[in-house]
Amino acid sequence: MPTGIVGEFLELKDGTDADLLAMQCGDFYEFFADDAETVADELDLKVSKKSSHGSSYPMAGVPLSELTPYLKALVERGYRVAVADQYETDDGGHAREVTRVVTPGTLLETTDADARYLATVVRADDAGSHTHPTGSSADAANAPDGSGGPEGPYGVAFADVTTGRFLVTTLDDLGDLRAELYRFDPAEVLPGPTVRNDDAVLAAVRDDLSGSVSVFDGEVFAPGRAAHAVRDQFGAETVDSVGLNSELAVRAAGAALAYVAETGAGVLASMTRLTVYRPTDHVDVDATTQRNLELTETMRGDREGSLFDTLDHTVTAAGGRLLREWLTRPKRDREELCRRLDSVDALASAALARDRLRETLDGAYDLERLAARATSGSAGPRELASVRDTLALLPVLSEALSGTPLAESPVAETLRCPDRDRARDLHDELAAALADDLPNTKTEGGIFRHGYDPELDDLIERHETAIEWIDSLSEREKRRHGLSHVTVDRNKTDGYYIQVGKSVADEVPDHYREIKTLKNSKRFVTDELAEREREILRIEEARGDLEYELFEELTETVAAMAELLQDVGRAFAEIDALASLATHAAGNDWTRPTLAEPGTLSIEAGRHPVVERTTDFVPNDLRLDEERGFLIVTGPNMSGKSTYMRQAALIQLLAQAGSFIPARSAEVGVVDGIYTRVGALDELAQGRSTFMVEMQELSNILHSATEESLVILDEVGRGTATYDGISLAWAATEYLHNEVRARTLFATHYHELTTLADHLPRVANVHVAVDERGDEVTFLRTVREGPTDRSYGVHVADLAGVPEPVVARAGDVLDRLREEKAIEAKGGSAAGGTGTTQAVFDLSSGSFADGADANGADANGATVDGPGTGRTDTDGTDTDGTGTGGTNTTEVDATEVDIDPETRAVIEELTDVDLAETAPIELLSRVQEWQDRLT
Ligand code: ADP
Repeated sequence: MPTGIVGEFLELKDGTDADLLAMQCGDFYEFFADDAETVADELDLKVSKKSSHGSSYPMAGVPLSELTPYLKALVERGYRVAVADQYETDDGGHAREVTRVVTPGTLLETTDADARYLATVVRADDAGSHTHPTGSSADAANAPDGSGGPEGPYGVAFADVTTGRFLVTTLDDLGDLRAELYRFDPAEVLPGPTVRNDDAVLAAVRDDLSGSVSVFDGEVFAPGRAAHAVRDQFGAETVDSVGLNSELAVRAAGAALAYVAETGAGVLASMTRLTVYRPTDHVDVDATTQRNLELTETMRGDREGSLFDTLDHTVTAAGGRLLREWLTRPKRDREELCRRLDSVDALASAALARDRLRETLDGAYDLERLAARATSGSAGPRELASVRDTLALLPVLSEALSGTPLAESPVAETLRCPDRDRARDLHDELAAALADDLPNTKTEGGIFRHGYDPELDDLIERHETAIEWIDSLSEREKRRHGLSHVTVDRNKTDGYYIQVGKSVADEVPDHYREIKTLKNSKRFVTDELAEREREILRIEEARGDLEYELFEELTETVAAMAELLQDVGRAFAEIDALASLATHAAGNDWTRPTLAEPGTLSIEAGRHPVVERTTDFVPNDLRLDEERGFLIVTGPNMSGKSTYMRQAALIQLLAQAGSFIPARSAEVGVVDGIYTRVGALDELAQGRSTFMVEMQELSNILHSATEESLVILDEVGRGTATYDGISLAWAATEYLHNEVRARTLFATHYHELTTLADHLPRVANVHVAVDERGDEVTFLRTVREGPTDRSYGVHVADLAGVPEPVVARAGDVLDRLREEKAIEAKGGSAAGGTGTTQAVFDLSSGSFADGADANGADANGATVDGPGTGRTDTDGTDTDGTGTGGTNTTEVDATEVDIDPETRAVIEELTDVDLAETAPIELLSRVQEWQDRLT
């Protein structure tokens, strides 16, 4: 074991579970051994060697004043860094101890405007919880409904040490947990004792998040200890009044508090408020849907082009954070939504007042962050001045509102919320204390205004007098002793001295004591000068001590008002976010949605909020209600189906974020969840099998959606063989219609599904119209009632130049396929699951058998042979499924006799091609191949 400084380093490192240790050695923080190599690699530092008792160790260091940016860079790369500071021991030596551990979730020094959350996740487990007293986790894993097993429930806390936000909830299952983690995007996740061994949770964190996972003392998750920590922090009454009675939530909260305390960031005091929320407060938007709807980043991972990016006109960091939160956590509380909408309404129609508000807010600093800096003691003089200047805006904003229509709106109420008297007092105290020109750091001096502290004023005055005496000394000495070339100056080694030119050095009076000879001059001191010097040093030391003390006191005063600063900061952020929504609404002709009871989504001339920015957008109507709850959307590829459905989901989401919407008008029923599944084209391009993913997403929707949800399905069953796919799509439609009864938009390329509208009462067809003239297809982007009148696969083959006989034959084959397959429709009655009627659709006749007829013993399969109620020339017995054979009609027989085997093979291949899954280039080469084979 090395001794000396390296030994000390290694010993300290041993005592911490941090990844890296930065140890103060005089004016530097040093990293030794492996840590030096790691840091040098990550941050491009030079490694030198440190010899210690015959061995040599790598060493890398950063100056004291530059530690912060280096720490930030390391922590943002996912390292947890312990910092050991040096202190003087009683015997005058130096020792060091770890004063804090900086981790991704507790990095206070962030300059990024985004929130930075630490998340703790705990699950009911054997170790100490009473909620799951029996059953091993293996038993729980087999629990069919997932309750109480590895599927949950979970207690989760989110703490943002940079702003003091602290939120706690319980979540039912892994899906909810994933959604919530994705929404908060924590920088660091602390799993509880069981969760840390749960591969599903860890995989979710790894796949969905950029943050890192830290393992921390499991004891802090123990119920008793956690409850104690929560009560200590927030007080017993608070805990009771916010209804934090779930043991899991308490455990998560307590562990987060313990971790923040343990890291020594000193910000516990800025966690002033415990926000407990229930998942039912917000619209359930699962992680997949958040991604699909590109709320905060596009599918490609860019921020630009996301909904947030499009809507964000905020002028402050806190306003941006809040707007982002509103979009990712839409609300179900109509009262709150109406309040936001009233505010946006007022702000949208008062352009001048809005501009004045925004200009004023532009000068606001991030009060929530400043509060955290003050409580941790890391705020400097300029930060306190930022608090002063931001508090000064409160009356300016009120002034900007008065006499405008906004004065009567909820915007004025928002501004009245914080305790304005206390805010003014704090402002006045800071204004009286802080000087106009402030130094960078609290150790530099010159922080306080004259008149703030009499003792300080006295010291400053005495200091000035002494300095004046020194400044005029050279003149006095010249006069008194007849010397020329005399200067008085000060440096580190000599202190104050009188410098005389060599030529007159012999003429100095006797009481001059020589201290140094230079080339052209000599330096002297006198007793008088030495006495003044001592006085100046005494005053400077006393002044430094006093200013530091006063500054600490002032910081404490500010820290004690953390809650007030958070209130004012929150009010400013709200006004900024609301003004941003209003600005966007006014500039883009958005309108106020009418909030309605669940079940209705009726949009007149709706547009896609993001696509409309870059395209000449064609608006479309949409109507979903009690009688018409399920729309099947058909139309060729690229016609606009997906855009139409996403715009519906986004309008729903915007309305529940309290925003205006891109439509001429809309009635939006408040939903409990928005669920989407869309084909992930990029994943297909990467060659990953997505059918499993597709089915998992579908399964999640079928389990989670309710009658009050909005469901968007963009193709179901595409990732498998046609008959598999169509069966699944068919069954999913029935289930959503009959059992779940959610409002649903379903785009499909299975033309067959459009017939469901005739037999399921709430299903209707719409299609995106195209205009075809000759070989030209013009996309009209207009959504019309009814299904498309054709299947586009064969049509595209025609457009691609496939020879006429092949296209004609493909059309025949397609008809045959349809004729030979009958699909049973299970229609739900308007009253729901009870009284279900069944019908069997015979594609050959284009009609359904009566429900009573079809309820026979074999009518339960998704696809069954047709009962032959249709054309008399089709007996329905030939169901070889290949679509190539069939001897049941003379017409087909005649055609078949004419066809040679090669042509037949080509037709088979052509029929089998899945246009959606085949790259255009491959299609072209295959068409070329077929043409070659046919000529
Ligand atoms: P589909 O889902 O039918 O394949 P998309 O919804 O992906 O089609 O739309 C294809 C293209 O058409 C997109 O690039 C989109 O920008 C454009 N588009 C869709 N709807 C509209 C519209 N209403 N007005 C203008 N352009 C539209």
